[in-house]
Amino acid sequence: MKLLFLGPPGAGKGTQAISVCKKYSLVHIATGDIFRKEFSEKSKLGVLAKSYMDKGDLVPNDITIKMVKKRLSQDDCVNGFVLDGFPRDVSQAESLEKICAIDYVVEIHCPDEQIVERLEGRLVCKCGATYNIVTNSPKVCGICDECGDRLYQRDDDKSEAIRKRLEIYHGTTEPLIAFYKLKGKYIMINGMQSIDGVFNSIVSELSRKF
Ligand SMILES: [Zn+2]
Repeated sequence: MKLLFLGPPGAGKGTQAISVCKKYSLVHIATGDIFRKEFSEKSKLGVLAKSYMDKGDLVPNDITIKMVKKRLSQDDCVNGFVLDGFPRDVSQAESLEKICAIDYVVEIHCPDEQIVERLEGRLVCKCGATYNIVTNSPKVCGICDECGDRLYQRDDDKSEAIRKRLEIYHGTTEPLIAFYKLKGKYIMINGMQSIDGVFNSIVSELSRKF
């Protein structure tokens, strides 16, 4: 099972990817983790990638592809994997098809308005606790249950910032979705369900395909 997961910020893509990996004994592969591991081992590719990241630049495609290829050839990938955060664009997707064609792209689909509503309701505390005024509100409005400190909204969770992140998400993923749709490799999952509901939908779709 070789899968790619896509989903807008706040759709719970990472959580679902981890659950699916557990169920099918797949490996969860995030490019950030590959970069960190390569760098900690001081591999040529890792050091090169780090030099771009230190300057705040994106790691060039050919370096990323080489690292992903190396990762996918390791023994723990025999059952398959879930890619998270890669490929980012059609040119990376084309390169990936050449080294290791994926079976399906799973998109956790949520309407923008719902995402904005969900993320805008998020409140956090300096102690690390997270709340949501709709789904998980604190006992006392605006005060942390854990430590009694005042809760606040992260700049990232303000409506305008969320819309900007969604715009970037659509700009990068829509061409990718079109690319995989043409190959008959696209699965859309309704993200407007509970975490368990989304997971069950993914499993039922996958059981039909594999
Ligand atoms: Zn707190």
